Amino acid sequence: MKNLAISSEMAKRITTVLKLSDAMRDLQAIKLPRLDGLLAQLSMLPKAFEEIRLLVDDQLRLTSIGGFKITNLVAAAGEANLYPKHFAYFLPEDEGVKYADRKRTVVFMNTYQALFKLISLEESRLRVSIIDGGVRASEIGKYLIAWFRGHDVGHSVMRQETDFRAISKVDRWASMVLQEVLADVFGFLLCSTKAWQTSLSLELSIACQIYAFEMLRYLRRAPREFPDAGAAFVQVQYLIDRGYAAFDSETGKISLSSTDMTTGMTMLAKELSRSVLAGDVLAAMEFANRYCPHLNAAALDKMSAFLGRSTHTLDYVQPIYKHGELSVI
Ligand SMILES: [Zn+2]
Repeated sequence: MKNLAISSEMAKRITTVLKLSDAMRDLQAIKLPRLDGLLAQLSMLPKAFEEIRLLVDDQLRLTSIGGFKITNLVAAAGEANLYPKHFAYFLPEDEGVKYADRKRTVVFMNTYQALFKLISLEESRLRVSIIDGGVRASEIGKYLIAWFRGHDVGHSVMRQETDFRAISKVDRWASMVLQEVLADVFGFLLCSTKAWQTSLSLELSIACQIYAFEMLRYLRRAPREFPDAGAAFVQVQYLIDRGYAAFDSETGKISLSSTDMTTGMTMLAKELSRSVLAGDVLAAMEFANRYCPHLNAAALDKMSAFLGRSTHTLDYVQPIYKHGELSVI
């Protein structure tokens, strides 16, 4: 995700605010033990990935996985303080190094939770319903982190034959969107494994609801302009097209059950593994032509009319420079 200059439309709709001074106080008081605990629980990854291989495709393998650091943001300046606000940095890619032996993702938990609570929860609940879901506010951070680590790992799930360059030569944008879909889907499926559900005490119905709300937040940005938003469109479109989710005319929402969502996402992973990851360019482009928003304008128009667009963005209040005792960082 790249920063953009704030548009005038967005400027009118800033959803306040994350108080960074609170995070600073937390950081000075304790060393965020709960975040360290979460990281330890995510180490059940090899077991969880084995479940994915059995469920989706035994040809799947994990290539190199980068480091992962969970922290809180306490101040932002320069590029980091532009809009929309980042909740994560991918290093060294975000510094312009595309291919590096060692990679690390840094996720700001307080920013991520604020984005979810102020935008996803407020807006998406009006447009999507997981029939058996029930978000508990106190547990949101755990689910967000689990999925985001899953997405991070999902970028490293491949087959022996995987070569995104072949698809990229035909349609670079389709290749970028499909890579984000794969990461999203494997991230979601990792959260549905017994290994992660047990170690992190995750409930499938809550994971589905939080994931669905996040998909809608991405989707309602601009599916043709951001690969992440395009990937959200592909997943929602697939779930509806294949009968796992429905436009509910009574509630005006997209609705589905956690069981249907999990089954649909598993089928999507299988289909993409046999096409995109298997290096079958024809099959991959057939899928892209049907589901990618830049190749199916009619489907995008229909979805956009139903779901609308969000231009809300997050802002920070960081009064640390006004207080001498807090200006030490
Ligand atoms: Zn990604």
